[in-house]
Amino acid sequence: MYTSEFAYKKANSVAEALSLLQQHPDAKLLAGGHSLIPTMKLRLAAPSALIDISKVAELRGVRKENDTLVIGAMTTYHELETSNLLKAHCPLLPQAVYLIGDPMVRAKGTIGGSLAHADPAADLPASMLALGAKIKAQGPNGTRVIEADDFFTGMFSTALQEGEILTEIHIPILEGAKMAYAKFPHPASRYAVVGVAVVVDGGNVRAAVTGAGEHAMRLGKLEQALSGQPLTTANIAAACQGLLSPGNLNHDLAASREYRAHLVDVMAKRALMQAAGL
Ligand SMILES: Cc1cc2nc3c(=O)[nH]c(=O)nc-3n(C[C@H](O)[C@H](O)[C@H](O)COP(=O)(O)OP(=O)(O)OC[C@H]3O[C@@H](n4cnc5c(N)ncnc54)[C@H](O)[C@@H]3O)c2cc1C
Repeated sequence: MYTSEFAYKKANSVAEALSLLQQHPDAKLLAGGHSLIPTMKLRLAAPSALIDISKVAELRGVRKENDTLVIGAMTTYHELETSNLLKAHCPLLPQAVYLIGDPMVRAKGTIGGSLAHADPAADLPASMLALGAKIKAQGPNGTRVIEADDFFTGMFSTALQEGEILTEIHIPILEGAKMAYAKFPHPASRYAVVGVAVVVDGGNVRAAVTGAGEHAMRLGKLEQALSGQPLTTANIAAACQGLLSPGNLNHDLAASREYRAHLVDVMAKRALMQAAGL
């Protein structure tokens, strides 16, 4: 299907993109286009204008600032996958993005687009929660920083407000932390039927799941069961049981609620075993 008619505007800076958003209140930002364009072709979205931010240099790249990794919103999955800084300080992200879609999706899709779109089956939201990331947004009233825990508010909905642009993702460097992501991919799209990210920093465990519910969420039961415990096969197996009750989980052609609940336990166990090197 074809999209409805729209105006195309290209921004060369964040300031220009913000100004264009003010001039075209029902416009959409265009990042990698790999969620937005299909949505428009299905006529599920019909913005009057697209504001292309793909060439905004200040939104691109990974850098280290003291004990934080700063990732520009327009950094592509491929750039995340091949970033030496991430491989050295946050191997969870290169591992997770390698499992996204196919090479074309990874060449065009961006971390900012993925987080702003907040697809319930997207891979990166779970990693953001497990890593304790902060999300920086710039809007007409200035800049604010949103904790990943407060960012995902529902299916395809986030804490971003009208006219705001997600500009950066800040990830604390946890030297020596063990981390991994395990997903059960949809056989056609490779989206996560269920994906679990874990970060074990000393005795502190953070874990989050995507694909299971309306949006990515922390696995509090798992975090409590394993925090302060040695990461042994027996402890991991005991902790990864009945993590979520099926009642509120997603159900579709790929998996029933009960099967999804089972997959959460299995993916959590896989991620922890991988993180622990077992
Ligand atoms: C065949 C296929 C397979 C896929 N498989 C997977 C998969 O396995 N796992 C997975 O996680 N994803 C998958 N995706 C989705 C893909 O990751 C998308 O690239 C991603 O969801 C959106 O990123 P984007 O840069 O393409 O954003 P766009 O499609 O350009 O934008 C998405 C939405 O976010 C908004 N937006 C974009 N950037 C910003 C910003 N900086 N600030 C505020 N709003 C912004 C846009 O206005 C739009 O509403 C797949 C997509 C396809 C087509």
